Amino acid sequence: MLSGLEDTKILAGGQSLMAMMNFRYLAPDHIVDINRISDLAEVREVEGGIRFGAMVRQRDVADSPVVQARCPLLIEALSLVGHIQTRNRGTVGGSLSHLDPSAEMPAVFSALDAVLHVTSVRGDRDVPIGDWTLGYMMPNLEPDELLVGITVPCWPTGHGYAFLEMARRHGDFALAGAAALMVLDGAGAIERVAIALTGVDVGPVRLAAAEAKLIGRKPDEGLFAEAASIAELVAGIEDVHASREYRRRLAVVYTRRALAAAYDRALQGRA
Ligand SMILES: Cc1cc2nc3c(=O)[nH]c(=O)nc-3n(C[C@H](O)[C@H](O)[C@H](O)COP(=O)(O)OP(=O)(O)OC[C@H]3O[C@@H](n4cnc5c(N)ncnc54)[C@H](O)[C@@H]3O)c2cc1C
Repeated sequence: MLSGLEDTKILAGGQSLMAMMNFRYLAPDHIVDINRISDLAEVREVEGGIRFGAMVRQRDVADSPVVQARCPLLIEALSLVGHIQTRNRGTVGGSLSHLDPSAEMPAVFSALDAVLHVTSVRGDRDVPIGDWTLGYMMPNLEPDELLVGITVPCWPTGHGYAFLEMARRHGDFALAGAAALMVLDGAGAIERVAIALTGVDVGPVRLAAAEAKLIGRKPDEGLFAEAASIAELVAGIEDVHASREYRRRLAVVYTRRALAAAYDRALQGRA
């Protein structure tokens, strides 16, 4: 249907599409409802990770024992995505396809190095999360393509994690937020770390330069502050909710706090 129909939109949870249509930002000629494709609604363990079907509801991700055990960062971030009612309907694939610059899921998947699986009558392709954002609310999807799933490599048991954000009210989109993952080595130095931001650019921003500063070093507040200061260099976006400068400032503060929280959990995980 996607390959044959003109001006088509896919309906997943409808939590963003219906709002866009109500505001007349979108007026598609056709809507293809993928809600009853049961294959798209599975969460399953795969070697080294978890595969989410695009239609898996955000609520089902949060309730999944596999995700709770292996990917707690997702659970922490999901508690900040909208409200229980929106999470009951909203899907993982819908969040990634809608690609709001302040959405939590794209930043979490960026920190986790997720791979997105896309299909069309022309064939299948895998898109690393780093190649997913082409522009403002513009995912790497052709009009005839469907996002069918996302594979997330899991971090080792006991890893540290944190997702923190600044939103004006609970359930609002974040002004800015930070995801952090951390593994310590036997001597207590940082062996592995990932940091991703939301709300500061058109898509999630991975802070590779900050990660490089942290690897091999013994954590303390000064080191986290030094690494987090790199967030000041992100491009920054501006809208009626917050200036570019304010979002950058938030990015620095929330990166530092997320690193400290991930470190605390990494210490507990080793105990
Ligand atoms: C009150 C409210 C508060 C919210 N707060 C937040 C928040 O704090 N953080 C946050 O991240 N989100 C928030 N949201 C958005 C919510 O998370 C949406 O569920 C999500 O953005 C879109 O998912 P969906 O399944 O509802 O997609 P839909 O609304 O059905 O679709 C969204 C877009 O993605 C496309 N699409 C959907 N699935 C696919 C697919 N498989 N392949 C290709 N294209 C597809 C659709 O065509 C459409 O363009 C909020 C929504 C509401 C109503």
